[in-house]
Amino acid sequence: MSAHLAPLDDADPSTADLIAARPHLSLHAMDGLLMEGVPLNAIADALGSPTWVLSAGCIRGRLRQLQDAMAGLPMQVHYAVKANDHLAVLRLVGQAGAGADVVSGGELQRALLAGIPAAHIVFSGVGKSIAELRQALQAGVGQINAESAEELAMLSAVADGMGVTAQVALRINPDVDAGTHAKITTGRADNKFGIAYDDAAALYAHAAGLPGLRPVGLALHIGSQIMSMAPYRAAYARTAELVRALRAAGQVVEAVDCGGGLGIPYRNEPSASPAAFAGAICAALGGLDVRLAIEPGRWLVGPAGVLLASVILSKTTAGRRFVVLDAAMNDLARPAMYDAWHGVVPVSAVDAVRPATPADIVGPVCETGDTLARQRALPLLAADARLAILDAGAYGSVMSSTYNARPLAAQVMVDGSRWSVIRARQPVAALWAGESTPDWFG
Ligand code: PLP
Repeated sequence: MSAHLAPLDDADPSTADLIAARPHLSLHAMDGLLMEGVPLNAIADALGSPTWVLSAGCIRGRLRQLQDAMAGLPMQVHYAVKANDHLAVLRLVGQAGAGADVVSGGELQRALLAGIPAAHIVFSGVGKSIAELRQALQAGVGQINAESAEELAMLSAVADGMGVTAQVALRINPDVDAGTHAKITTGRADNKFGIAYDDAAALYAHAAGLPGLRPVGLALHIGSQIMSMAPYRAAYARTAELVRALRAAGQVVEAVDCGGGLGIPYRNEPSASPAAFAGAICAALGGLDVRLAIEPGRWLVGPAGVLLASVILSKTTAGRRFVVLDAAMNDLARPAMYDAWHGVVPVSAVDAVRPATPADIVGPVCETGDTLARQRALPLLAADARLAILDAGAYGSVMSSTYNARPLAAQVMVDGSRWSVIRARQPVAALWAGESTPDWFG
């Protein structure tokens, strides 16, 4: 059977199902695809494409769901800034009561600039520089999650030198397979993250004796896009065991940072719920009299975003149909990087119901990997027809590059019937604005 005759994957949800499963999206007979009350066509008419569009209502609603699920626990939600670090997102989640989980000095500055109090910021990451540790202590962050004996020594020296005490949690590696994509699993013994489980008790005691440090507890994060509770349960059980062992050895353990990683259904996979996540945390750690925190990123913002794109042309090569968009892997890296599946739906209500045949949806970048979706049911699309790539709110715009000298796309936030540009499209001249040629070139 030739490639173009390959049947569509039966597991693929229809356009109608994709839209129905995302309450902030709807299809209007005249206006086409709406996000909340705003036609995406209106945004594309005004700004062109590619353009990222984020639903504030969706983010707010999801944060509330998570907070409600955790309500019975002494829990603080620290939004994982890496998922989408736009100031508008940070301000939105901060105003709704979330703190932040940051992994660089830049993310720390963003969180502070957005008004998130330093005391509600946790600094994570496998390699924080001395300058970043100093910056975090100067800002007065609530907690620094240390990932190695070497980092504890660095932090102790920096804090002691500054005459302050760093509240430090030890990020342990529980050696649990999160059952997710290999590139986003972080809690197996052979991953670079965290302190080996068997070394943690001795290192905790060592940290307690170092100047400038106050060990307050443990942290873990076993991976991202986790759809089943089993790995969480296993990891939290091991963490609880360690808390008990530390206390039995006379250590003070006040806090456990349970990490992020809760997955979302990109296709139509059964997904984990906040209630189940809360249940897994509660079962293992609820009775330990510790302050708890979680660090969700994708779950909060992933479903809230779409990448709006236009068709440049459609072509058929060796019998295979390709739709070439003005969005590409430099905008949304996830399909090329993780073989990620994103729903792709027409913006026009007419296109959404026309007969469909399989097509590969690709960008113009000179890489075969610049394939955003394979063999999707799409109607024949004229040049300039618009498509929305779904669930692009997390690890989307933040991973964009300017590869092939393609400027960064515009960003928009929608809230009810209002919308606002939250980042202008990058002018092409900005790509070389900081460049110079050696003066010896003449
Ligand atoms: N916390 C830490 C330490 C992380 O490394 C990550 C992601 O890699 C997260 C939280 C957020 O993960 P997710 O977006 O899957 O919730």
